[in-house]
Formats: sequence, structure tokens, C-alpha cells
Amino acid sequence: RGKSTSFIGLGRMGSEMAFNLFSKRYAEANDAHFVVCDAVPDAAGSFCDNFVKHFPGAKMAVAFTPEEAVLASSTVVTMLPSSPHVRKVYTESSGIIPTLRLLSTEEAKATLCIDSTTLDVEVGREVAAEAQETGADMVDAPVSGGVTGAKAGTLSFLVGGGDRAFLRAQPILASMGKRIIHCGPSGSGLAAKICNNLVLGVEQIVVAEAMLLGQRLGLDPAVLAGVINCSTGACWSSMINNPVPGALPDKAPPCERDYEGGFATSLMLKDLGLATNVSSNSGSPVPLAEAAESIYAEVVRRNPELGNQDFSSVYKYLRAAAEE
Ligand code: NAD
Repeated sequence: RGKSTSFIGLGRMGSEMAFNLFSKRYAEANDAHFVVCDAVPDAAGSFCDNFVKHFPGAKMAVAFTPEEAVLASSTVVTMLPSSPHVRKVYTESSGIIPTLRLLSTEEAKATLCIDSTTLDVEVGREVAAEAQETGADMVDAPVSGGVTGAKAGTLSFLVGGGDRAFLRAQPILASMGKRIIHCGPSGSGLAAKICNNLVLGVEQIVVAEAMLLGQRLGLDPAVLAGVINCSTGACWSSMINNPVPGALPDKAPPCERDYEGGFATSLMLKDLGLATNVSSNSGSPVPLAEAAESIYAEVVRRNPELGNQDFSSVYKYLRAAAEE
């Protein structure tokens, strides 16, 4: 198990992250073993085929359940859609935690679980506590940087967990990202991620509103973006992810590809839901997160196709509303 690393969840982010992680580990030790697992077995099979094309000697296996992955590996990384999937993979009968309970105390203690999913803070804390009861180390390590950062290996990891777990996770995360930030105990990485995405979700709508209003007032979008980007309104959504085609002539945000790629509106809607849920339990008001959540919900309800497009496509929804 010591020489083997498992990756569960080979979607848009996970497939890129697993590729970077495995290539670095393979470069360090070419007798390393790699195990992949996905609810869609073809995803795991095609990942292995692709990896072996690049690294012909690599020892790869497909696990059909998380149990098989844990029995084979002492390092297990998960990258799943959200809370129900993490609960299933970690706590159901062929899941990670019941399998850890079957291992010897020494083997369980040798195990490190890293969950990079963006999920509910409280579910993340519960799952980590159950995993730690077996003796294993676990960190929550959600990411910022999107599919581009996952591919380039430049993600930021926001990490929650004890000092020992963080120190163990650090070199593994460094194979997939550039900034590894220890935010505090279990759940703290998730808390930081959810707060960041609350800012981002609101900011993207307000930039879309201002860009639309400016054009209605006769401004050229490139001129308006130029003004905002050297003034106090400048932010990631205006400078990098500006939602108006042609507004950033020297950059290529998703709006230049009809909002394809980038961060899906449905994922932003999920993340704002995580913020509004946790705020009611913590008693901290989030009126703008609530407003943004209902706007993205309406975007997807009116035009389900926008659910898969970048969340800057909220601009298309506002423009259509202005034309009604
Ligand atoms: P995705 O839907 O593309 O991938 C999720 C993968 O998990 C899929 O391949 C799916 O088959 C697999 N899966 C689901 N249930 C499973 C199970 N029970 N067992 C094994 N595999 C299972 O999602 P993604 O875009 O890769 O995002 C993953 C996480 O990263 C989400 O929490 C998301 O919010 C977060 N995130 C995404 C981005 C982005 O730009 N896409 C950026 C930052 C954070």
C-alpha cells in the first residue's frame, strides 16, 4: 500500500490533477503504483490508457469501489461533485471509512485521505472526524484555479486539518498546485473556499450588470472595462473573466468561446447554496449570497444550457431580460 496512490473522481478537475500527481510520483519512483476509480468505469479505463501512453512503464489499476482503492493504497485523493458523493464514497458499506476499520491499526494510521471536493463544511467535518477515529489522517483541500489551473498544476489548495495531516499532505498537493495554504483545523479549507466563492459569485453578477448598463449608456465595452480595470471597481470578474465579448482585447475569457469551459454556472449555484446553508447554522447574515443564489437559479431555470456554461453567462441572462 505504501508505494501506491489512489485517485477517486476523474472528472474535469480530477483527471487533470491525477495526471499531474501520478507523473510527479512516477518521476520520483518508477516502481510506484497508481489506482483510479470513477462512478463511470470508462472514465477510469481511458485515464489509464492515456497515462500509459505518456509513461509506458507505469503500473496502473482500476478500482471498481473505494474499498478496492483503500485496500491497494495508503494515499487516497478524492475529487467529487459535492456532499452526497463524498458521504457515499467515504461512509457507505464499500466506502473508504468502513474499509479503514477492517485494516490493522498500523495500516489505518499509515493512511492519508485528501478530499479536494467543494462540499458542505459540516459534512466535511463529520466525514473527517469518522476517518480520523480509525487512526487515519485526513484533510479537506478544496481548490481554486479551475480546470486551467488543474491542467497547468498551478492550483491553490485551501487546507483544513491537524498539523501532522497537513505536513503529510503538503508534498502531494505540491504535485498538483502552487499555493498550499493551511487555513486551520478540519473544515477550515472548505470554509475558506465557500467564503471566496461567495465573493466571486456576487462579483461576477455585479460586473455583468455594470457592463450592460454602461453599454446602454453608450459606452464601448472595451473602454468601460479599461476604466473599471484601472479604477476601484477592478476585480477578477472584470479583469480576467469579463463577461462581454471584445471587452478584454488581449485576453480570451470564456465569453469569447460562447461561455464554454471555465467554471460552470451549476457549480457556482451549488457553492452559493453551501454558503447560504452554512450561514443559517452559524447565524451570520449573507443577503448578497442569497440574492446571487436566486439569480443563478433563475439563469439555469430559464435556460438549462447555461448551467453547463461558465457562470459569466449570467451576462446573457441579464441581456435577455433587458430585451424582454
Ligand atoms: P465533475 O462532475 O467533472 O467530476 C466529478 C467526477 O466524480 C465525475 O467523473 C463523476 O463520475 C465522479 N463521481 C461521482 N460520484 C462518484 C462516486 N460515487 N464514486 C466515484 N466517482 C464518482 O466535477 P469537477 O468539475 O471535476 O469538480 C469537482 C469538484 O471541484 C466540485 O466540488 C467542484 O465544485 C470543485 N471545483 C471545480 C472547479 C471547476 O472549474 N470545474 C473549480 C474549483 C473547484
